[in-house]
Amino acid sequence: MKTRIGQDGLHLFNRHTGLNILLDEVRADPSAWSSTPRQVSIALTNLCDLHCSFCFAPKHPAMLSAESVAAWLKELDQTGCMAVGFGGGEPTLHPQFAEICQHAAEETRLAVTFTTHGHRLVPPLLERIAGNVHFIRVSVDGVKATYEAQRGRRFSALLERLKDARKLAPLGINVVVNESTVHELDALVKVAYDVGASELLLLPQLAAGEVGAASSAVRHELEQWACSYAGKVRLAVSEAGSEGLPTCDPLPQEKGLRAYAHIDTSGVIRASSYEGPGVRIGADGVLAALNRLKSTIGSEA
Ligand code: SF4
Repeated sequence: MKTRIGQDGLHLFNRHTGLNILLDEVRADPSAWSSTPRQVSIALTNLCDLHCSFCFAPKHPAMLSAESVAAWLKELDQTGCMAVGFGGGEPTLHPQFAEICQHAAEETRLAVTFTTHGHRLVPPLLERIAGNVHFIRVSVDGVKATYEAQRGRRFSALLERLKDARKLAPLGINVVVNESTVHELDALVKVAYDVGASELLLLPQLAAGEVGAASSAVRHELEQWACSYAGKVRLAVSEAGSEGLPTCDPLPQEKGLRAYAHIDTSGVIRASSYEGPGVRIGADGVLAALNRLKSTIGSEA
């Protein structure tokens, strides 16, 4: 198991089973706390072969080199980071996606996850990443006609891809909760259960670019649904969208840049993929950039 020391105690994590153990009676001196975020997301490429109207991903051509990603992951791993999540755009369109996953799995102790629209999870790609991915997140915004209107792809085709992906690794379903999807959460839970997914991640829509945030009516309906939920698939919610929802945070003191950071396709590290100042990662590495970012935003984290 990988270990990490922080404000909340000694955290142990097994990337193969997903088991987390927190020994909260262990109180270490702050100088011993891990200096790196618990989780880091990395946007590998801005490329995407879908054209979702609500997409807020940057559209300028940009892609990270596999060598840069490898160097950053080595640093992050050695300083206590637990997991990396690759995203984009569509991360599977990075020409070295399989090699990047393989390097992360074999050369570090990080849990390797990625978020995808799912339509490229066909057997040739799945065979290339087999054994090198510990969790796959697939974005499924609604079911049937709702999904097809938003993504422009057949929902039945997505279901086949989900079943194939589940044979490779544990699976999670991500749903942006908005006016279109909030009424379909029960149907999404059923889809998740039927394909063997272990988690439904609720992402209440945030304002980004021309896309508005979920309305108060949507938030209210989501809260009512979550409070009465008794399904078999685990629910999770983005921290930014969790207000008003009954959540359990096992690491309540590990916040901000100690919990999470995002690296975009230009090699800029920031506190969120949505907004906020960023710092370009230079030759002195990702931790040096992280420290400059902490100074920039005045974070004690
Ligand atoms: S699949 Fe994701 S990255 Fe691609 S267009 Fe849709 S929202 Fe944007």
